[in-house]
Amino acid sequence: PSDFQGKHVTVAGLGVSGVPAAKVLHARGAIVTVVNDGDDARAREQAAELEALGITVRLGDGATLPEGTELIVTAPGWKPDKPLFLAAGKAGVPVWGDVELAWRLRGPDAAPWLAVTGTNGKTTTVQMLASILKAAGLRTAAVGNIGVSLLDAVLGEEQYDVLAVELSSYQLHWAPSLRAHSAVVLNLAPDHLDWHGSMEAYAADKGRIYEGNRVACVYNVADKLTEDLVREADVEEGCRAIGFTLGTPGPSQLGVVEGILVDRAFVEDRHKNAQELAEVSDVNPPAPHNIANALAAAGLARAFGVPAKAVRDGLRAFRPDAHRIAHVADLDGVAYVDDSKATNTHAAEASLAAYEPIVWIAGGLAKGATFDELVAKSAKRLRGAVLIGADRALIREALARHAPEVPVVDLERTDTGAMLQAVTEAKRLAQPGDTVLLAPACASMDMFTNYNQRGDAFAAAVRELGAGA
Ligand code: ADP
Repeated sequence: PSDFQGKHVTVAGLGVSGVPAAKVLHARGAIVTVVNDGDDARAREQAAELEALGITVRLGDGATLPEGTELIVTAPGWKPDKPLFLAAGKAGVPVWGDVELAWRLRGPDAAPWLAVTGTNGKTTTVQMLASILKAAGLRTAAVGNIGVSLLDAVLGEEQYDVLAVELSSYQLHWAPSLRAHSAVVLNLAPDHLDWHGSMEAYAADKGRIYEGNRVACVYNVADKLTEDLVREADVEEGCRAIGFTLGTPGPSQLGVVEGILVDRAFVEDRHKNAQELAEVSDVNPPAPHNIANALAAAGLARAFGVPAKAVRDGLRAFRPDAHRIAHVADLDGVAYVDDSKATNTHAAEASLAAYEPIVWIAGGLAKGATFDELVAKSAKRLRGAVLIGADRALIREALARHAPEVPVVDLERTDTGAMLQAVTEAKRLAQPGDTVLLAPACASMDMFTNYNQRGDAFAAAVRELGAGA
């Protein structure tokens, strides 16, 4: 019998993680109750599906701990200070997230996990890593927060040699016993602080990814917080701290020397102190933050024993997802670039650092962010700025303080035609050789369904201008 036979398990939250979790636990003999805050049409549909299997579902009541609960399996986004968890804490009931459940259910000869977290660059890095591992002939997949359920990957038919796992800070918070083969925290900037409660708590949850690592803890040399997390982690004997840097690498680091990505951490040839991996131009796109992502991916792959040639082949084969520094078109010598995925200031800073001069299209929902640091750092690269969305005044004020000479167009309208006007204004400000960059530094939901739709609107506007020219 499984460990769950006859056990009273409460699944907190329906949706992408809750529904499969409830099914798996039920199939293993647990007595499952699902609790869900919402009570909308989608929830009812999912509830009906589970109830047909004999699972109890309580809609519109995610706060009360069901009588007799011995374990809670929660959707990762549920906040730790919810009444349900406070009650669980008092009753001594453990809480697992979807990742913890997958980790516990994986079989005895399950594939090891190479794990990636960080404030920005997770998805890109995990995809680069999977591409490199595939180039090495390994059976692998990019899974986790990227939208492919870990439960499916762990329990599915498909056999893997190794998994490239993207983990959010929420998932890490709820994954106390996860032990990766190797892991990286790419960078740490304030984000989701309302959920975690403080920067310290956020960093501590990110740092969980290093706990119990067997082979390598990969950190960002330029981001001391990530190195501190490695130092504080309790790892297996022999596990190494491996840094990545855009500069010349020291021992036990990967870095860049004269346009070549170089590994000084895992060197096969005893007579050499460095292994050349790839050229900077093999990274797509070769923007500084993306080279950092490539080095982080290479660090994990090398920790897993992947040869240098596979790193190069994997990086060459990698294509970034839509809306991440995607080149849309050139019009009259001006490049139009869509980085709609830059939904916070840290991400926007990375893409603004990759171009000059820039006509910057920004704005949207600020989520409590301030823009002084971003604008001060990027001011000298700006040809002009076009501001859209609900919180554009915050950016306008930061521009007035740190870049008073930069011309700013402030668009009041938020209707669907606003993006076309924004791109038209940007085209007017731009000169040949410039880049018009959509890097909003804000969430999109004030004007769009999501960042995909915002990026699509930008690309459509650029094409419309191109057709009219
Ligand atoms: P995540 O999965 O962490 O959200 P993505 O790979 O989807 O990260 O990239 C999101 C955005 O973050 C990109 O569009 C880019 O603007 C920015 N970005 C990517 N990598 C980095 C990095 N290493 N440092 C800072 N910003 C980055």
